[in-house]
Amino acid sequence: MIIRIIFVVLMSLINSQIRAEWLKGDLHTHSTYSDGSHNIAEVINAAKSTGLDFFAITDHDTLMNGEPYHWFDPAYKDDKMILLYGIEWTTLKGHANIFSDKIFDYQRIWRANQDQNANQTMIEAHNQNAIFSINHPEMMFGLKWDYDIFQGADSIEIWNGVYRLQSRNAWSITKIWDEELMSGRRITGIGGSDTHQLDGLLSKWKNIATPTTWVDSVDRDGKSILEAIKKGRVSLSYAVDAPMLEFLADVDNKHEYTIKTGDNIISRTSIDFKIRIHYPHQEKKYKTGVIVKELASELTQAFEDGSVDVVKYLQEDKSFGKVRAVGVFKNGKLFKTWKINEKVNEIVFSDQLDKRERSYYRVELVGKPSSSYFANVLLYGKTIALTNPIYVNY
Ligand SMILES: [Zn+2]
Ligand SMILES: [Zn+2]
Repeated sequence: MIIRIIFVVLMSLINSQIRAEWLKGDLHTHSTYSDGSHNIAEVINAAKSTGLDFFAITDHDTLMNGEPYHWFDPAYKDDKMILLYGIEWTTLKGHANIFSDKIFDYQRIWRANQDQNANQTMIEAHNQNAIFSINHPEMMFGLKWDYDIFQGADSIEIWNGVYRLQSRNAWSITKIWDEELMSGRRITGIGGSDTHQLDGLLSKWKNIATPTTWVDSVDRDGKSILEAIKKGRVSLSYAVDAPMLEFLADVDNKHEYTIKTGDNIISRTSIDFKIRIHYPHQEKKYKTGVIVKELASELTQAFEDGSVDVVKYLQEDKSFGKVRAVGVFKNGKLFKTWKINEKVNEIVFSDQLDKRERSYYRVELVGKPSSSYFANVLLYGKTIALTNPIYVNY
């Protein structure tokens, strides 16, 4: 009995430790140093009030004449939130965010901006130990990424602002990102709210932490966060209090699931996967028990080709209360789906494959966002959360 109690306590300690590693942040915001409506202190305060662990103000370099003045504002500091030094490289053919945990020399990067040389920008960013991250690669109004996606680019902002507007996130994720991954490239997908206003109309669909970028960081500091982003230890959710996903794998049948997103599995024929669903804020409790049902491959195929709308399908099922769908994508295609309710914390599945077959797996959680604000429900779209891939033979 005592042993059992110790075991339970130990397990919950381990679990809380695993949980604590996930830090939440927003990697894309603006202040009055460029085209934002609020000053540094106000933006930092707004970020703090959402409870973020890390944060970056990424003012446009062009509106500061290539000098990252915002980093040197005395208000750019916080005793709790980890602040990164970021700036938005802004050209007529596309934008990129450049981040570091320290102040870095922007001169040569600015010169590469004047030459509209994105590849040189990436090289100069790397020379300064900074991350080069492609912003909003697909836009409905305005700018998309018209340069190549270079070998060595650290990340790509696959989710910018709320899901539906304005950055064609569905395209950024399912077309641009999946195409890159299919080509054999490993590139981390990150999110950014691209907040310009803290109040007013624009703030309704672009505000801090929509979406939230979760980083599985070894330590609670900027350097570890950036390392984790480079590695692909990143998960995204539509808001700071939305459910988020953790995706793990195991190859030795010990069921320890030590393989994380961004990792590459070599020459294995049988892989076990585990999806964890975390609920940062305990959601309203329903009287139903745990509902987890793997959906038929025909239905999964119908979601994939668009002949059945997944949210409409979920809405038909009134008896289930609040239901959502979990989908695993394998090599850009929907591979497996489940219907779940909010009592489900874990899903496991396995796959068999050829020893040399190159594959990647990533997970999405879809359904209706729990926001009560009507416009948000319209604008958020159906995507609640998604993970980065686990790679095989890359
Ligand atoms: Zn931009
Ligand atoms: Zn921006």
